Amino acid sequence: MKEAGFYTTRDDGKTVCHLCPDNCLIANGKRGACKVRRNEDGRLIAENYGLVSAMHVDPVEKKPLYHYYPGRPILSLGTAGCNLHCIFCQNWEISQATVEEIPLRKLSPEEAVSAALRIEDNIGIAYTYNEPVIWYEYVKDTALLAREKGLKNVMVTNGYVNPEPLEDMIRFIDAFSVDLKGFNENFYKRYTRSKLQPVLEALKAIRASGRHLEITNLVIPELNDDVEEFEAMTDWIVRELGRETILHISRYFPAWKLHNAPTPLSTLQKFFDIASRKLDYVFLGNVASLGVGQDTICPQCGHTVIERLGYATRITGLDEEGRCVHCGKKIIGTTNDEG
Ligand code: SF4
Repeated sequence: MKEAGFYTTRDDGKTVCHLCPDNCLIANGKRGACKVRRNEDGRLIAENYGLVSAMHVDPVEKKPLYHYYPGRPILSLGTAGCNLHCIFCQNWEISQATVEEIPLRKLSPEEAVSAALRIEDNIGIAYTYNEPVIWYEYVKDTALLAREKGLKNVMVTNGYVNPEPLEDMIRFIDAFSVDLKGFNENFYKRYTRSKLQPVLEALKAIRASGRHLEITNLVIPELNDDVEEFEAMTDWIVRELGRETILHISRYFPAWKLHNAPTPLSTLQKFFDIASRKLDYVFLGNVASLGVGQDTICPQCGHTVIERLGYATRITGLDEEGRCVHCGKKIIGTTNDEG
């Protein structure tokens, strides 16, 4: 537990949390919508500080980040809680829980960094599995310490965060993997209980900062698989973030409250083709059998520069500066000093 950042206390003792666009008004003894920030006598407490629900060493490709230290492992940590309530959440057991409802182990920022330093070839620390924005205080303390030791910090996030805390996070987070769950306010409201516009603003801010950015769009049959909407989303990405933006189109499987059938492969192929006409780096996630969307292809000369088979990655066509060895094109985000 630690006192939270980004809140104010009203004269009546209620706290207003300014961390995410929900801006929860929280009465004494109650929690915000993320279930982990509680008003304790007019002070807002981050209950999940230093409490870890999951700790694994993952390939960075699993985040997914395909152009950030390809092929390297990263220590990955999660806690409890989330400011979104997606009915298709794959990690709902931890994301929709309070700190009292699931097993958690204590891990101080110092212990997290020591663990990261003991892992061979490790890039750094990824804050993932549940939403790291609502773990802000712990992420910040750990990330600053990690950075001092030469480690990188990665955030796997829904991007639903207010501008001021995001600006702070950009100082100590090196790479962002952001979910863009759809391109429709109704979808966000109905199925995630949040809003699209703040996510778009966050994406623009991250892009403007120069930090490494990859976007994931989970395609769910009947909920967000409208072709025109997908066209509009990819047009927005090109216009606001640039055609070099890395986009992962991910296959949905039934989870938590949603039992729709998995995304048809034909839909994924169609969306992959649409996105590939506009963006330089498009990948397919949760699907291996289509034979496309796994490798990085140089957008200038068409040669394969990074090969992937599952989470096995082989850099086959990049020089030390991350340029295509065939034509010299700089492939976004692939050098080890970027981000
Ligand atoms: S971080 Fe949690 S408490 Fe704060 S505004 Fe968002 S949902 Fe509410």
